[in-house]
Amino acid sequence: MTVRVVETIAELRAILRSRRALGSIGLVPTMGALHDGHGRLIETARRRDQTVVVSVFVNPTQFNQAQDYEHYPRTLDADIVVCEAAGVDVVFAPSAQEMYRDGFSTTIAVARVSEGLCGRFRPGHFAGVATVVMKLLQIVQPDRAYFGEKDAQQLAVIDRLVRDLNVPTEIVGVSTVREPDGLALSSRNRRLKQDERRAAPVLFEALQAAAAAVRAGETDPIAVTESAERLIAREPLVRLEYLEVVSVADMQPADRIAGPVRIALAAWLGDVRLIDNIFVDATET
Ligand code: AMP
Repeated sequence: MTVRVVETIAELRAILRSRRALGSIGLVPTMGALHDGHGRLIETARRRDQTVVVSVFVNPTQFNQAQDYEHYPRTLDADIVVCEAAGVDVVFAPSAQEMYRDGFSTTIAVARVSEGLCGRFRPGHFAGVATVVMKLLQIVQPDRAYFGEKDAQQLAVIDRLVRDLNVPTEIVGVSTVREPDGLALSSRNRRLKQDERRAAPVLFEALQAAAAAVRAGETDPIAVTESAERLIAREPLVRLEYLEVVSVADMQPADRIAGPVRIALAAWLGDVRLIDNIFVDATET
């Protein structure tokens, strides 16, 4: 079967009306420039749902810098080939005008979990994400929606959103896919210059060192982050934006590490901003 590519909400809904009787529907929201990280989300959906919908939409409202939006890679033809090979049923690739009709006025703000980490440095970002994801959930009405743990704060925001607004979709988190040297796959990696790409694995090395310190019994988050920060400081091409130990459920800074936590960071390499995180459970040493 070949993948159907649709650009309008009306056409997507018409297709899904007949597919719903066949079984469950899974949604994988993406901004395109698909890589093996997206591939793992699609595979996970393929195993569980009879119909898999991949949305490809570079959502303008979640970019807080016009430049980042303009430079974001757009490779729809290649993305369709990837989806076809992965057994996706429908690619939904709407225009910004289709998603945001004239007069669009609604914004969903998820407090607390959106506020720290990336929320602090990218004002409005998570409101943009929550609003577009809520729209996609309303348009597709999937049984399950799949999100990567690479964007752990986004996953926590969506999880909170569907609970708070009683959305009948199960949110499934999928583990991070990495390059052999540890760098988390990201559509932004292709914008790294050669020397920046060589420096980038230090981010995951630092997270692993921090996780190792927690497993070795360090309970002070400052001690954990300082040693990781020192490692990153040795790499002059990397400018760290934040590195923090947070609670898994609500992404709030941990005062003392006593159970499961996430260590999360954002860093700039040239004009490319990368994020990554690692999960570690202090009770499992
Ligand atoms: P994006 O297209 O970057 O907005 O990502 C779409 C989805 O793919 C999000 O749920 C991301 O968390 C997920 N994703 C991106 N990179 C990876 C990765 N390296 N491993 C697993 N999931 C990923």
